[in-house]
Amino acid sequence: MLKDSYGRRITDLRVGVTDRCNFRCIYCRAAEPENYEPPEHLLTWPELLRLCTILGRLGLRKIRVTGGEPLVRAGVEEFVARLSALGLYEDVAVTTNGYTLAEKAATLKAAGLNRVNVSLDSLRAERFDAITRTRGALQRVLAGIDAARAAGLAPVKVNAVIVRGFNDDEIADFARFARDRGLVMRFIEFMPLDADHIWDRTRVVTAREMRRALESAGLPLEELPRQYDSETALRYRFADGAPGELGLVAPVSEPFCGKCSRIRLTADGKIRTCLFSRVDHDLRGLVRAGAPEREIAGEVERIVAMKEDGHHINDSDFAPPSRTMVFIGG
Ligand code: SAM
Ligand code: SF4
Repeated sequence: MLKDSYGRRITDLRVGVTDRCNFRCIYCRAAEPENYEPPEHLLTWPELLRLCTILGRLGLRKIRVTGGEPLVRAGVEEFVARLSALGLYEDVAVTTNGYTLAEKAATLKAAGLNRVNVSLDSLRAERFDAITRTRGALQRVLAGIDAARAAGLAPVKVNAVIVRGFNDDEIADFARFARDRGLVMRFIEFMPLDADHIWDRTRVVTAREMRRALESAGLPLEELPRQYDSETALRYRFADGAPGELGLVAPVSEPFCGKCSRIRLTADGKIRTCLFSRVDHDLRGLVRAGAPEREIAGEVERIVAMKEDGHHINDSDFAPPSRTMVFIGG
């Protein structure tokens, strides 16, 4: 079992399989094309699988395939199948913008995928285009959510990053959307990880404000108990027994770093011990040099021991990391 120097058990792995994306969300990527990593820097599928195997044997139990947009990388279904077949991870999940999910949901389910999280930041078509800087994508994402449910990828979680001035007036609409479709809906505070540096405190809609917006929507909510220690969301169910669930994720206003159980493996083979780490720890060099498993495992243990105590967003001298969400693997 991996433990960091603060005694936190590290059980969750986020794997970025690409830094490419077919969206350009305002809170994530730059308006202008950024420099992607050169293709030769990205781990191949066998390299990714080898590292995920070693990490699984070290005690990581949950794995989430993310990016960039994981479903734009050819071969992702096969990768999910191989990950599931390892039998090392209790939970294999994908986070996607949903654009191609309608075509891929059934194959992913057959590959052994347990769960999918779909990002959806507006239910209004024009606004959705403005936030994601796409055209006409909302219907495809909604179809993707339906296809995921039909394929049995339960529960489908829908994530909305709430940014003041962009979508903070849709919280009640989202709650009704979750209730109507029996979905798990998560409202996430905006974090300083965007490429265009539009983040500032005034843009953060806090969990407390979101809670108030939910209350004023007149929906009967009942707080749910925590399911496990490192759970990040404050969860609510509908008190009248309607299906669906709501959750507030408050990394900025109510940090949960003390219970963090995560590390990240980026598409170019770096371990990040925190979203806000100032440093990346390279594993690609070791993998490409043909290092044996025990050497890579030892390096991972050494890196995990350096996991930061927390993100320090609320410190006066906070500076955002140089890598943004699309490169880190959200
Ligand atoms: N492309 C996929 C997607 O959008 O779901 C997976 C990668 S994306 C980086 C993972 C998650 O990070 C998404 O739910 C996205 O909304 C979230 N995210 C990106 N930038 C963020 C930011 N600045 N603050 C909070 N969440 C952010
Ligand atoms: Fe792409 Fe996801 Fe970032 Fe949006 S949040 S730009 S979909 S990686």
